[in-house]
Amino acid sequence: MSTYPELKLFIGGEWRKTPEDLPVLNPATEEELGRLPHARVSDLEDALGAAQDGFEIWRKTPPRTRSDIILKAAAIMRARQEEIAQSITAEHGKPLKQARLEVIRGAEFFEWDAAEAMRVYGRVIPSAPGTKIAVHHHPIGVVAAFSPWNFPMSQPARKIAGALASGCAIILKAAEETPAGAIHIVRAFEEAGLPKGVLNLVFGTPSEISEYLIPQPSVRLVALTGSTIVGRQLTALAAQSDTPVLMELGGHAPVIVCEDTDVKRAALSGAVRKMRNAGQVCTSPTRFFVHESIYDSFADTFTERAAATVVGNGIDDGVEMGPTANDRRVPVLTDLVEDAVAKGAELRTGGARRGNKGYFFEPTVLANVPDTAQIMQTEPFGPIAVLNPVRDLDEAIAKANSVPYGLAGYAFTNRADYIDRMIDGVEVGNFSINTLEASLPETPFGGVKSSGYGREGGTEGLESYLTKRNVWYSSE
Ligand code: NAD
Repeated sequence: MSTYPELKLFIGGEWRKTPEDLPVLNPATEEELGRLPHARVSDLEDALGAAQDGFEIWRKTPPRTRSDIILKAAAIMRARQEEIAQSITAEHGKPLKQARLEVIRGAEFFEWDAAEAMRVYGRVIPSAPGTKIAVHHHPIGVVAAFSPWNFPMSQPARKIAGALASGCAIILKAAEETPAGAIHIVRAFEEAGLPKGVLNLVFGTPSEISEYLIPQPSVRLVALTGSTIVGRQLTALAAQSDTPVLMELGGHAPVIVCEDTDVKRAALSGAVRKMRNAGQVCTSPTRFFVHESIYDSFADTFTERAAATVVGNGIDDGVEMGPTANDRRVPVLTDLVEDAVAKGAELRTGGARRGNKGYFFEPTVLANVPDTAQIMQTEPFGPIAVLNPVRDLDEAIAKANSVPYGLAGYAFTNRADYIDRMIDGVEVGNFSINTLEASLPETPFGGVKSSGYGREGGTEGLESYLTKRNVWYSSE
């Protein structure tokens, strides 16, 4: 594909190839899109040195200049929306329409944080005559960041935006399956005039890169979006050098559907949202707990809409759902369905790989799934919905909270008493009522429990990238 960029590392302001490379595949066709160079230890050493130098320049760059450069890069990304979207669809598989929206969302993350760069206010603390006490914010230092493959452009955007707006330098290891999204971002910053070394991009063997970078004394923050298991590994590594972490991990979002709601609207929006990005979204609505009085009609409408999802190559017009993004998801999803059915769940639609080319999985609905099924505890990260009836709101809240995750949660109701009980009772970082939206650049995004800690976005979004310094001045 002509719009797919050449794949290289970016270290100290230079694009670099290495002797070892691996293919990047189109998940809809399994065709090779390009060869991705893998970083050696010497490349990582160079990236670290470059980031340390870049940090010394960037921390002293006035916030307004930082903000201007970030805004310029975001404008370049917006202008290249179509080219970037085509690359994302080629390497990830999502429908082009969704890829176009992702590019805009990525640009918005930069725009929000660029404005926040101007608002890193400190605090003056009332004190005795002759004494002045204030709290100053300083960029934390070099950030080692790891971004996943489900949103090839907007996931790297969040981490780069937070780091650069705060005055930090960053070494990003983006996902090896979907490198082009991050490469397009780096190109935009190169053209926008970002000083060399402030933003570095590497790919390779994930464990080798994290095991080299995280213990380095000059790395002062580890930021990951990924699975809970990898989050624990990186957090343990960071603990060896007392390095703080920002962790956006898995989710297993509950949707509580109350008896007063518009059943058709809830079922249709749930089925459409579930299949977005082939379900590979950490906030994807997955466990639907539906009041028993409306369960049958909800399940019928949901299943009909899910089964009607237009599945195909994301580049083709009218496609609503592409393949899963890599060859790892189909076997995992197949096992989860087989396990649930073996334990008594009803397979309402889907449940298997579709075709024999590309990593397509059918839109799948499981009903009346017993609590013992693995899928009730394991995030599917794929196009599978679970529909279970509940007797009342207490049962629904208990079921919602019955997983180790706590990222997003949803509800459909207009009853004030129900809303009040759920806001207090559902253990998640993001709770949405009568909508399945969970995140905007201006809202703080993150989880509780095993879904991670720290927030990206909102006025809280730069906190992890900043340290606070309490400054005393005495004139006596
Ligand atoms: P994975 O956990 O192996 O990888 C997730 C990401 O972490 C990848 O981009 C990978 O490159 C990186 N990674 C893996 N091991 C690493 C290491 N030792 N050091 C540094 N980075 C490392 O899983 P996967 O098969 O790619 O994805 C499956 C699971 O990941 C899903 O079930 C889901 O829970 C989770 N995931 C979550 C998100 C999210 O947005 N929170 C995104 C993608 C994947």
